[in-house]
Amino acid sequence: MLENCRLCPRACGVNRLAGERGFCGAGALPRVFRWGPHFGEEPPLVGERGSGAVFFSRCTMRCIYCQNSPWSWKGEGEDVTVERLRGIFRDLALRDGCSNWNLVTPGPWLPQIREATAPLISADIRLPFVYNTSGFESAETLDAYQDLCDIALCDLRYSRDATAAEASCAPGYVEASRAAFKRFWNRLGPLETDGSGLARRGTICRILVLPGHAAEAVENLAWLATNVSTSVHVSVMSQYTPSYRAKEIAPWNATVAEEEYATVAEAAADFGFENGWVQDFESNKPSGLLGENMSPGDGPAGENEN
Ligand code: SF4
Repeated sequence: MLENCRLCPRACGVNRLAGERGFCGAGALPRVFRWGPHFGEEPPLVGERGSGAVFFSRCTMRCIYCQNSPWSWKGEGEDVTVERLRGIFRDLALRDGCSNWNLVTPGPWLPQIREATAPLISADIRLPFVYNTSGFESAETLDAYQDLCDIALCDLRYSRDATAAEASCAPGYVEASRAAFKRFWNRLGPLETDGSGLARRGTICRILVLPGHAAEAVENLAWLATNVSTSVHVSVMSQYTPSYRAKEIAPWNATVAEEEYATVAEAAADFGFENGWVQDFESNKPSGLLGENMSPGDGPAGENEN
């Protein structure tokens, strides 16, 4: 996979083992910015001990409002060996007692993640994998790495390709994300929880309401209701914060208006979605979920805002 990288829809075809770099800038060694118990995800993913998040550096998108720009855009983080990555996953399971292994933007790193975790799983050290993605995924890659996804946590961010190109430099995003979501749903189905309410398997759709683009969130909800199911757990998110380059570009330099957010929340109810979460609306809320201010390394990250 790494000799001719086509892990995401960009299909750069570069040889990462020979030092070449594609759009995302990912190399041969896994690169990680931060890992540890994370309390900023939806409640069934968190539990008492947190979601065991691994925030991978690099990303296949370029969102101008990215809250994670230090490691997603600029590549901050640490190159680690596969053995070191295995130790991180082991610590999240055994030392920290986390609820799951939460792979945050894992797309460029799937071969290394599988290599790191396979021996743990063989030794019966295993947590459910959360595949935490913006949705810009290759269908072939999702099929090839099904074993790294027990719970899909997948955005439907845009319903219009022009917006995806403008804000995330992601041509073809709409088709790719919808195809990815359908694949997740067809294989995993609705969210299943255990006796303590922790997610074990299934699918969650995240709808991040974007300033000036609430209509696209509604269009994605309509698509979801018509083409997938109203049983999907939908997480409607109000936390958009103008970060990074968005601070200087309208309409991305604004927070989401309360009316925009209400429109999306009401649409979710009107379309008949019964499962999921709607965040309380707070304008100018701090970016505690992840955020540019998060430091690299090991340890808890984020508060539960969902
Ligand atoms: S993962 Fe990175 S190098 Fe590979 S195809 Fe996607 S953008 Fe290109």
